[in-house]
Formats: sequence, structure tokens, C-alpha cells
Amino acid sequence: MSPAPTHSQALFEAARALIPGGVNSPVRAFLGVGGEPRFIARAKGARITDVDGYTFIDYVCSWGPLILGHAHPRVIDAVQRAAARGTSFGAPTAGEVELARRIAAALPSVEKVRLVSSGTEAAMSAVRLARAATGRDVLVKFDGCYHGHADSLLVEAGSGVATLGIPGSPGVPEATARLTRSLPYNDIDSVRRLFQAEGSAIAAVIVEPVAANMGVVPPAPGFLSGLREVTRAAGALLIFDEVITGFRLGLGGAQALYGIRPDLTILGKIIGGGLPIGAYGGRSDLMAMIAPEGPVYQAGTLSGNPVAVAAGNETLRVLERSDYDLLDKRTEALVERMKASASAEGVPTVWNRAGSMFTCFFTEEGVTDYASAKRADAKRYAAFFHEMLKRRIYLAPSAFEAAFVSLAHEERDFEQTVKAAAKSFRALAGSPEAP
Ligand code: PMP
Repeated sequence: MSPAPTHSQALFEAARALIPGGVNSPVRAFLGVGGEPRFIARAKGARITDVDGYTFIDYVCSWGPLILGHAHPRVIDAVQRAAARGTSFGAPTAGEVELARRIAAALPSVEKVRLVSSGTEAAMSAVRLARAATGRDVLVKFDGCYHGHADSLLVEAGSGVATLGIPGSPGVPEATARLTRSLPYNDIDSVRRLFQAEGSAIAAVIVEPVAANMGVVPPAPGFLSGLREVTRAAGALLIFDEVITGFRLGLGGAQALYGIRPDLTILGKIIGGGLPIGAYGGRSDLMAMIAPEGPVYQAGTLSGNPVAVAAGNETLRVLERSDYDLLDKRTEALVERMKASASAEGVPTVWNRAGSMFTCFFTEEGVTDYASAKRADAKRYAAFFHEMLKRRIYLAPSAFEAAFVSLAHEERDFEQTVKAAAKSFRALAGSPEAP
């Protein structure tokens, strides 16, 4: 007789009858690792609890936004107070000015910013603006980078598209896909060649300045500065998609870390503190083209939603007084310890890290682009994922995602994680399990 289904299993079965694949975003379905997703009941700090009452140390952190951890008291308080004042007005509020000011202060390349409701919407709008500003149509992106699911950006994309192993998506008109060129990440020579061939038709290069949707892949020295130089010379725009890296790698995001000034920046995740938000901003002459100041149309009923903005403002207020260096060092120590236990068990791994995000690739060669990320052993990642889950550590249910450490993760969480990793690597190596 098979065991009674867990509450998660029962909910997943009910969900599958009503929601495509049982989930509202593909990677959540666990297709990349097998098994069934856990339905979550609640979370606090670094810990997340499912509907069956199991508690896990969470390294997904809602895919990045929760750098303060779950249900941070100050964020929850700000959300409750904002909600009590009214959830949406469809009219401007003071909080939006405050959030715009914070973003502009942290990111000097952002002189003006427009709030939207998701990263997808922000990327799609920035691309429209880049095309309008340059009068050109061709867009350059990089294999394995993900910029949301808008038609022109779903070519050779990372994240769920990579997890499902599909090159693009049916429903994207071929004429639209043809305007997008996707090149290998970190390959500045291929960018130069493309610009030589058709630079005058290129509106923009869009890039994750540290890629995080094929797993974490940092930029090679000279890659980002090369992009800046090539785009400037050709009259094309450089768009940094900092949906993940913004306020994650430091208040100034990747652009401050690498000292590059993009023309446009896309934000999301952390600036909404776990509520739905996105933003795009940049040079004020470009942003002045957006309606109603200019002719490029973009709008949203819930854009700048007061509850999301309150969560974002409070999150950034806390971050302004937080120690990014400490978060960085804690993550480094965690990664070093797990790496050591993988080598001790003879399990070949490559660990890519940028600040408080990292990925463990099961491979012997360095991972510098999508091709090398795909050569890593995703089946072994899936086995590792389940070994860790069994020991109550919740990693991303896909080999092509980042693990996120939050400011709520404490020494005891790291201890438990490192112990679980040691046992998991031992299990992977086929050694008898430690007691
Ligand atoms: N850009 C990047 C770099 C992302 O990681 C994501 C989502 N993970 C997006 C854009 C899309 O954001 P959203 O899911 O809010 O639409």
C-alpha cells in the first residue's frame, strides 16, 4: 500500500487540475529536479515552513527579493500600515517619490525612474524605449540571460526556459524573434563582430551584469567595459538588467561594483521587498521620452502600488544601514565550507559566487557561459537538491538558478547547511552515510 499523500501532494494534484502544471510560474513545479513542490504555509527569517509542518532553511528567498529574510518585522509593519491606508489609488503618492529618490541616489546612472509591476514589464518597456530612442529595431542579448517573458526577450533565455531545456517559445512571432540576436555571455569578440556587421541596426545590448539565470556566472574582466565601449561607439544603448543584482551586490548594484554606467537600468525584486514591483530608469533625456513627458507609451493600473512601494522603501531603508561586506563574507565562508566537503568526498564541483548569491555546478570545468553551464551535470544537481531537501535545506529546484543568502541567515543556519551538505555529498559519492 502506498503511503497517504502529504498535504503538499494533495494540493499539487488539485492545483494541476486548475492551474497549468499546478503552478503560477514554471520553475516552481520541480520539473528540473523531479518530485513534487512543497506548498508553503509561512516563513520567518531564514526559515520556510510547508503545509505539512516541515521547516527548511531557505536559500531561494522568493528568488532574490528577500535579502532581509522572510517577514522582516519592519517590512511587515510598513506593509500593514500602508494597507490600512488603502491598497491602491490610481493616483500618485508620496512613497513613490521617496522610492524614486532612493533608487536615483543609489544608482548614479539612474536620473529618472518609472515604477512598474514586474521585472518582465520593466525589461519590455526599456526595450521599447531603446528602440524609440535609437530608431533601430535589433536587440542583442546573451545566451542563458533571462529578462522576463516578453516576446523579444525569450530567445535562448535562462531561468525556467533553461530549466525546461527549450530554445524559445511557441507563440513568439518569428519576425519578432528575428530582431533579437543572442550571443555567448562573456564573449566580447562575438559582440564586436556583430557590431561590425550590423551595428547601425542595433538599438541596444541588454545584459545581466552578473548573470544569475543560468546559475551564477560573473562577467569576465573587460566584458562589461567592452560592451560599454562598443555600444557607445555604435550609437546603441547599453541596458543593465539588475533585477537580481540591484541592491543585492551592494546599494549601487553591479554597475557600482564594476564601475560601468549603463544608459538604462532594469530593477525589480529587492526594491519591492517581496511585493510585486519592477522599475526601469536611466539618463533623463531618454526617460523624458516616456509618456506623458514624451511619446513612448507605457502605463499600469497598479504601477507604483502604495503597499509594494512601502515594502520597498522600508527594505531599502534597512539596507542603507546594513553591512553588505558581512553578508558577502558569510556567504564566502558558507561556500568555502561546502566546497571543501564536496572535494573531501571526491564530488567534482565548481562554485560560482557573486556577493550573497552562488551556484554549485556539478562539473570539472569552469562555468563562464550558458554552454559551459549546460555541460554541468543537472541530474547530479537534482540528486543533491533532494538530499539537501531531505535534510531540511531548501535550494532552488533547478540547476540553472542562484542560491540567495539573506541578512537573516545566522551562524546556526550555516552550521546546519554545511552539515547537511557534507552528508549529501557523501550520499552522492555513494559512501555509507554518516550517522
Ligand atoms: N530580469 C532578471 C535578471 C530576472 O532574474 C527576472 C526574474 N527572475 C526578470 C527579469 C523578470 O522579472 P519578473 O519575474 O518580476 O517578471
